[in-house]
Amino acid sequence: MTGSSTYLDYNATAPVRPQVKAAMMAALDLVGNPSSIHAGGRAARAVIEAAREAVAALIMVPAQTIIFTSGGTEANGLAIESAVAAGSRRLIIGATEHDCVLETALASGAAVEIWPVDANGVADLAWLGERLARWDRADGRPFAALMLANNETGVIQPTGEAADLLRTYEGWLHVDAVQAAGKIIVDGRGCGADTLALSAHKLGGPQGTGALTFGPRAVLSRRLHGGGQERGRRAGTENLPGIAGFGAAASAAMTDMAQIKMQAAWRDEAAAYLKTEAGIQIVGEGATRLPNTLCLAKTGFSADLQVMALDLAGIMVSTGAACSSGKVRPSPVLTAMGLEPLAGSALRVSGGWDTTQLDWTRFAQVWLEANQRHQSRRPASAA
Ligand code: PLP
Repeated sequence: MTGSSTYLDYNATAPVRPQVKAAMMAALDLVGNPSSIHAGGRAARAVIEAAREAVAALIMVPAQTIIFTSGGTEANGLAIESAVAAGSRRLIIGATEHDCVLETALASGAAVEIWPVDANGVADLAWLGERLARWDRADGRPFAALMLANNETGVIQPTGEAADLLRTYEGWLHVDAVQAAGKIIVDGRGCGADTLALSAHKLGGPQGTGALTFGPRAVLSRRLHGGGQERGRRAGTENLPGIAGFGAAASAAMTDMAQIKMQAAWRDEAAAYLKTEAGIQIVGEGATRLPNTLCLAKTGFSADLQVMALDLAGIMVSTGAACSSGKVRPSPVLTAMGLEPLAGSALRVSGGWDTTQLDWTRFAQVWLEANQRHQSRRPASAA
């Protein structure tokens, strides 16, 4: 809850945490380029390295495997473009991946194959096993991208099993953990990832900052040229306040994991109420999902009208991926799940570090009233 409004759009971006603002303000007060060897430069460098430790701790990886980037999009791009530069000529991309993964793969010059999901949005492991079994060595090392959790549905993917399959063929698994980090415990290597992407603004940090972590089997190449920052892997003077804020967000996210877990009970209570009272469908209900995300659909009540009705009551939610808003097309995520008929009426509600049970209850009540008004205005034949 923020003032008189209720913010339930954390998967688009989370409110910046107070600790993050403090860390960013302190970083802005520093004078010095982190690459300078004088005292000011060393102070800036210390802030970056402390943030690197904090981000690494959040996902349980060594700090020296963290490369700071300008966000999740760049981190995903760095992994995919590195794999192509290292010789992968065919990329397997999960059917519900974020646009920045799919579009980067399509733009990379490599062939792209879409890895299907089932009706709950879970990647089909049998398909992957079968596809890898007939891999053509001329296509180079197999590369697959599978997100840890989906931004629209919250569905969690079997990355560990996918990694086991890929390892048999010396493949590379890239995991987009942008939505998962800070919402569930993420074990950066244990989840099977050779590379894994993060974004600060999804966990209460600033927008425009992210990271890629890499394991021993990933071959990363330099995508931005110039200085030797980030051990030569990402040139450009570091975003000191952004990185400081990311570190503070990562530390805070580690301490409020229990609060985030509670979201699941509050969300499920709201969803059960709306199911009983209004017959909503819950997308991905049969899969393990993030605790904070609810994707619901009510045929005949368009997602745009739902968002507008809630907005008038001060409740902020989303019709789908905010990153792709403005593009008039059915959600590729729901389409991949075989749920295209629901896509026009699917709503994404997502809480986070500052969300209370009251926020979920208020959302459910206001949504129900809006639905009742909408249904009463519809001609009987359309009901
Ligand atoms: N990956 C996923 C799953 C996302 O939800 C998003 C943003 O919505 C991104 C990547 C892109 O991250 P960023 O906004 O930091 O570039």
